[in-house]
Amino acid sequence: MATKGHLFILSGPSGVGKGTVRKELMKDPSLRLYYSVSMTTRSPRPGEVDGKDYYFVSPAQFDENLKRGNLLEWAEFVGNRYGTPKDKVEEMLESGKNVLLEIEVNGTMEVLAKCPEAISIYLIPPSFEALESRIRGRSTEPEEVIQQRLAKARYELTMGDRYRYRVENDDVLRAASEIAAIIKAA
Ligand code: 5GP
Repeated sequence: MATKGHLFILSGPSGVGKGTVRKELMKDPSLRLYYSVSMTTRSPRPGEVDGKDYYFVSPAQFDENLKRGNLLEWAEFVGNRYGTPKDKVEEMLESGKNVLLEIEVNGTMEVLAKCPEAISIYLIPPSFEALESRIRGRSTEPEEVIQQRLAKARYELTMGDRYRYRVENDDVLRAASEIAAIIKAA
């Protein structure tokens, strides 16, 4: 699709700190970034707000959106489904905004297959231990689910070379400024 804005994908293993880096990027109005809020069947964590962090939907509502072709991409992640609502992304790109998706690796591959011009950025954790402690620290889920997230993270760590850019999240402000430079260069 020929659009005025650019599509950016911020991805990387669960627990790497995508959300923190994204919030930092969103503070910079000169990037003209619109953050695409995803839809998920996962339950909200304490403090998460519907319509801001995610659109929290039932499995039936998710199915309905899939059936209607409303999702640009979607993926199953540790027992829940996550997807990117399509209409808003297209509208924002056409109006000249840059759109930021914050999604996992399989969804990224789906977007890149449909929109090869999308600019993919993979956030690298400083170490697996750092990843594990983040996953444990923020989770309200049972140990079994944490183990599934860790297993998933090991797989996701093998996918970095499929991305156009790789940025180490050794420090949030440093990583965000490296990504801001990528966005400006586009
Ligand atoms: P969490 O449950 O930790 O919020 O998210 C689990 C994983 O799903 C994270 O890696 C997150 O970036 C990813 N994710 C969030 N929204 C989407 C989406 O719309 N599509 C895809 N493919 N992944 C998503």
